[in-house]
Amino acid sequence: MSGATRPNFFLLLGLDPHDRWDQAVFERRLEEKTREWSRASSGVGKPAQEAAPRREVIPQIREVMNKDESRAEEAAAALVEADKARTALLAEFEEALRIGVAKGYVTSGELAGWIKTYAGALTQAEIRKRITVPILAGSAAAAAPVAPQLDSVTAKTIRDRLDTLGLRDLYALLGMPAKTDTTTLAQRARSLNAELQRNMNKTADLTARIELLGNAMEIFKSDDMRSRYDETQRMAGLDAILHKYDQAFRAAGKVDERQAALFLAEARSAGWDPQAALARLEALAAQRKWAIRVGGVEMIAQQQVCGACRALNEPSARYCKQCSAQLQLPCPRCDHQTSSDARACPVCGFPVGNRFLVDSLLDESQRQRNARQLNEALQSVAEAEQAWAHAQAGDPRMQRIRQERQQVEILLQQQSATIQRLRLLMDSERKYFEARALLDGLAPDTLPDQVTLRRQAE
Ligand SMILES: [Zn+2]
Ligand SMILES: [Zn+2]
Repeated sequence: MSGATRPNFFLLLGLDPHDRWDQAVFERRLEEKTREWSRASSGVGKPAQEAAPRREVIPQIREVMNKDESRAEEAAAALVEADKARTALLAEFEEALRIGVAKGYVTSGELAGWIKTYAGALTQAEIRKRITVPILAGSAAAAAPVAPQLDSVTAKTIRDRLDTLGLRDLYALLGMPAKTDTTTLAQRARSLNAELQRNMNKTADLTARIELLGNAMEIFKSDDMRSRYDETQRMAGLDAILHKYDQAFRAAGKVDERQAALFLAEARSAGWDPQAALARLEALAAQRKWAIRVGGVEMIAQQQVCGACRALNEPSARYCKQCSAQLQLPCPRCDHQTSSDARACPVCGFPVGNRFLVDSLLDESQRQRNARQLNEALQSVAEAEQAWAHAQAGDPRMQRIRQERQQVEILLQQQSATIQRLRLLMDSERKYFEARALLDGLAPDTLPDQVTLRRQAE
């Protein structure tokens, strides 16, 4: 050290001893500091007391820093001193860490504080790596709130009936995507129920279906009941995932960090907050007396879940790496960028999750149109219009709906014109030969009752 009585000049001026020497940078920095110190020394209190002796060393700073040899010595001394400071900071961090993790978790607020305080000694990644206990989000060191679920009897009844029919959930029973809005689901449950009730041949399968549709009508009667059902499903999903990993961890007798990361990713994809899933894993680990080491929880929390295939994607990704679907979509009503996993726009409430239903209805309409089932096609289009009501005219899906309706209506007009012409030929003018020629020129199934009409024309 070049004297314990004065500060190191590199450190005092905030110059990095590793940097190539730049006289201009030095001059500028010294000038700034000189101004700073004279301002401070004209004040009162501790800053003024500290500034005075600094002003006195300015000539000495010039002397030392302007000579290559003495400057090199000063730089070497600065490195030693910085190293000492870093060592002291590291020791301080070790102590903070020891006390911080003793409670079994670290809050994200604590972590942020450490990252800031010990930035001179450790990188963010180095600090995170040292934390072997879970990092809980903000104030959420307290248990995560539990959302209401269905009562256990109803839940079990529905589960058993679904199992009997080999169905995954009530959405599969209705044949509708899980992101569809509640009102549309309720309508479908009612119309399916009415349809099945009309069927006189009540097989065991049909009876089970009707009973389950009764449950579905009850569940989709309100958003509250629907969220209870979804929460029950979500909970059962996590139990299944946890059970699977329990087997793996039990074999190893501990929770391996990489396996824990897989568990958390799977839970996230099933709609869980990784922090809440981790709490469940920790409870299991405590029960089984496993050592647990988990990292990267926040990283998994930031990933985007694809609404189409549920794959996890990087926070900045625009398209799903698994199915190429868009991960952020503008709301068709208010243009707000909405996660592809959302059921409704968080700003205006537009049921963005209905897009899966709308797309399948439009595909259905196209298929029906090609098979000349035009009234059925018109029905599908009407359902799509209802599920996508109030979207802006420029929205691509809205445009597709409009085009589909147009095509179906054109075909319907052509159909009715052809029928009118045939009726005129056969009923009024009795020109059966011409009617036959007209019918022969049509593709099969162009008209409803085409076969009957052909027979009449014979
Ligand atoms: Zn996807
Ligand atoms: Zn919106």
